[in-house]
Amino acid sequence: MSNERIENVIIIGGACAGYTAAIYAARADLEPLVIEGFQWGGQLQATTDVENFPGFPEGIMGPELMNRFRAQAERFGTRFVTDDATRVELSDGGIQKVWVNDDEYRAKTVILAMGAQPKRLGIPGELELGGKGVSTCGVCDGAFFKGRDVIVVGGGDTAMEDSIFVSKYADKLSVVHRRRDLRASAVMQDRARATENIEFLTPFVPEEFIAGSDGALERVRLRNAETEETEEVEVGGAFVAIGHTPGSDLVRGQIDLHDNGYVKVEEPSTRTNLAGVFAIGDLVDFTYRQAVTAAGSGTRGALDAEWYLRDTPPTDEERVELAEEAREAQGAAAAG
Ligand code: NAP
Repeated sequence: MSNERIENVIIIGGACAGYTAAIYAARADLEPLVIEGFQWGGQLQATTDVENFPGFPEGIMGPELMNRFRAQAERFGTRFVTDDATRVELSDGGIQKVWVNDDEYRAKTVILAMGAQPKRLGIPGELELGGKGVSTCGVCDGAFFKGRDVIVVGGGDTAMEDSIFVSKYADKLSVVHRRRDLRASAVMQDRARATENIEFLTPFVPEEFIAGSDGALERVRLRNAETEETEEVEVGGAFVAIGHTPGSDLVRGQIDLHDNGYVKVEEPSTRTNLAGVFAIGDLVDFTYRQAVTAAGSGTRGALDAEWYLRDTPPTDEERVELAEEAREAQGAAAAG
């Protein structure tokens, strides 16, 4: 089914960035349509306590925070399609087309906000113990692990960053990496190595996260990648920091991406290489990746789209549609 209407703005992705863009676009009377995804809410939907989002001094549960973002967008007239965008046809300055299965939506601008997913090890216990000792975000969850012995899995900059942050709370922190050499930049490695309570366990591969009698993480089984021997180590927390996968598959081949798959924008704006197409949040950000930075980027996306609409004359296609609408209105008036 093809929808007649040409939207001002379609936002693809319902989480911190997308909903914030919707709040701003709706308050600017742009009547945004958010194709929010079947599993809307992004990474916060799988997060328990959020203690670092300003405005909530007592903390707030991740899903509750997302409900509030969404309700705020709805309050100002945002419309939602609670399903996944399945295909797009992006244009450089023309009409943007988005499909949800067979339903086609068209818009003058599109804001891409498909986020990123933390990579998983894919081992037993990893998903089951999410929120019960296993986390994918040290900066978000580190403070909950005060005084415990924890591990951080990974050898890149994220693992170093998470380790340095979490080591402020943990008693002892072990970086578990599958090779002897780390991938992280020298400066980050040096900082981690200089931290007193951080040690390096290499080359080890986690094989299973194991719960104790209280249902929370108690042990991790590690395999030595050289000797193939395994051992179980007691841990009070584990951070999986092996990178993220941006949700850019939908637009791959149509828009400029970095080598790592994140969408390229003309910083500090959210403009992509295509006029009328903007990108925000974790889909473009491989540095900060916080709920509040994603929300801030959503604001920029909505303002960029608003300014683009203000400064861009209608396309030929829009002119034809507007003329048809005017003819229909005249016909209806004459008949009435
Ligand atoms: P990354 O550089 O891709 O590193 C991922 C790490 O996880 C690698 O050490 C990799 O091991 C390991 N790994 C991947 N899959 C694994 C698996 N299945 N099992 C065990 N280990 C696995 O990702 P990142 O650390 O998230 O960094 C991404 C980008 O963001 C980089 O460009 C980085 O410089 C940047 N960044 C910068 C900062 C900063 O400057 N402060 C902070 C965070 C991120 P191998 O090494 O063996 O492949």
